[in-house]
Amino acid sequence: MRIDIMTLFTDMCDSVLGESIIGRARATGKVEINTVDIRNYSVDRHRHVDDKPYGGGMGMVMLAQPIFDCYNDLCSKIGAKPHLIYMTPQGKTLTQDRVKELAKLDNIAILCGHYEGVDERVIEELQPEEISVGDYVLTGGELPALIVADSISRMLPGVLSDSECFEEESHYNSLLEYPQYTHPAVWNGREVPEVLLSGHHQRVDEWRRQQSLKRTLERRPDMLENADLTKTDELYLSQLKSGNSQVK
Ligand code: SAM
Repeated sequence: MRIDIMTLFTDMCDSVLGESIIGRARATGKVEINTVDIRNYSVDRHRHVDDKPYGGGMGMVMLAQPIFDCYNDLCSKIGAKPHLIYMTPQGKTLTQDRVKELAKLDNIAILCGHYEGVDERVIEELQPEEISVGDYVLTGGELPALIVADSISRMLPGVLSDSECFEEESHYNSLLEYPQYTHPAVWNGREVPEVLLSGHHQRVDEWRRQQSLKRTLERRPDMLENADLTKTDELYLSQLKSGNSQVK
């Protein structure tokens, strides 16, 4: 999988992409993530990449031409047309299901807007998938692009030590994950649940499943509609809903 992030602020992305799990995955060739400076495609002698909006108003708008040339150059270099994503608060909100689908592609290019956004005509011309990271506005598309690149990368084979690492995590199966604990067994007077110290794998698995169901019911009951529930899960949930005090 190759991901190219098209941005005016490559350093902002590079510093994050060099760290931790994604940094290691890049270094070992599990994923290729590049940053591409849109400014290199300016044809202006002052290397301008933005201008005032027609019709007046605040801020600057990114020019269509450098973005268009940047994407086309990428296509020629790769020898294929990467799936283009434009990060925008006007797009569809990113979900784990969409991340799973994107992780199956070979090439992705992500366009980061900045200032007031980009000239609408380059969106019409390139027809990117428009993705939002939530109903709020950030100063630029760099942080959202990093979110997309990170969430996709950790789905790729070998990036995490074991696929179970993400299969049990929140949202993967329309459930939130169970609570996690580490050493020491008692901290600040708070004990780790006894079952986790028991060494009894089946009981641990049952407890985790129940905690996962309970959390989802309490915090995101809407997610349960899409969850793959067994009869045992449904019984447990109905006991929780009816306020059965024996059920924890
Ligand atoms: N004027 C735009 C609007 O009202 O829709 C917002 C522009 S925003 C200040 C600048 C850039 O940040 C956008 O072009 C986009 O790339 C990025 N951005 C901001 N919020 C975002 C979000 N929630 N999701 C994805 N990208 C976002």
